[in-house]
Amino acid sequence: MTDRKAELAANLARVEERISSACAAAGRARDEVTLIVVTKTYPASDVRLLADLGVRHVAENRDQDAAPKAAACADLSLSWHFVGQLQTNKVRSVAGYAHVVQSVDRARLVPALSAAAEKTGRELVCLVQIALDAGAGERGERGGAAPDQLAELADLVAAAPGLRIGGLMTVAPLAGPYAGREQAAFERLLELSSQLRTDHPAATMVSAGMSADLEQAVMAGATHVRVGTAVLGARARLG
Ligand SMILES: *Cc1c(COP(=O)(O)O)cnc(C)c1O
Repeated sequence: MTDRKAELAANLARVEERISSACAAAGRARDEVTLIVVTKTYPASDVRLLADLGVRHVAENRDQDAAPKAAACADLSLSWHFVGQLQTNKVRSVAGYAHVVQSVDRARLVPALSAAAEKTGRELVCLVQIALDAGAGERGERGGAAPDQLAELADLVAAAPGLRIGGLMTVAPLAGPYAGREQAAFERLLELSSQLRTDHPAATMVSAGMSADLEQAVMAGATHVRVGTAVLGARARLG
C-alpha cells in the first residue's frame, strides 16, 4: 500500500467509526447513513485510491475541477454528487458526469437541468439545497433556497422530464439563529424533509453534516453525510 493509500484508509476507518458510533447513539442502523467523500481540491489519483478502499459516493463543488476528474475516473463505479453553487451555463457539463445534483436552489436551474439530463439519457437526481439562515424569498450566502421555496422547487423538479426529486441538502449556517447550533439546524431540515415527503414520498434523501458536525447530522436523522477534510486532509485553498 502506498503511504497515501494507507493514510486515506486510516482516515476512512476513523470516519467510519464516527458514523457507526453516532448511528448506535441515535438508535439507527449503520446502513441508514451513506458516506459521501468530498474530493474537491484533491486529485483524481486520490479518487482512485478511495474507490479501491470501497468508497462508492464522491462529491465535488466546482465544475472546472470536477469535469476532468470525473472523466479521469470514468472507469470506476462511483456515484458523483455535485454540491456547489451551480450556474446555468455549467449545468450541461455537470449533467454529463453527476448522478446527483444536491444544490438546486432556484427555479431557473430546473429547465436547464432537465434539458441537460434529457440529452444524456440518464435520470438526474436533484436535491433542493436549503439555506436555513435565508429569509423568505431570499437565497443563502453560500447558496440554498429559503425554506418557504421548498415546495415550489420540489414540484418543479418532480414535473421536469429527466429529473427526479431525491430530497434535501443543507450546510449548517454560520450566521443567524442556527449559528453554532448544528443539531437544531439539522432537526429543522428533517422537519422540512417530512413536509416534502407528504407531497413527494420518494424524496427521502437528507444530506447534512460534514467533517465537523457529522454526528449531529446523524443524530438528527440525516441519510447522507458529506465528509471532506476528515478523509482527505485539510484543503490547501478554500473550496
Ligand atoms: C466542502 C464541502 C463539504 C465537506 O466539508 P469538510 O468540512 O471538508 O468535511 C460538504 N459539503 C459541501 C457543500 C462542501 O462544499
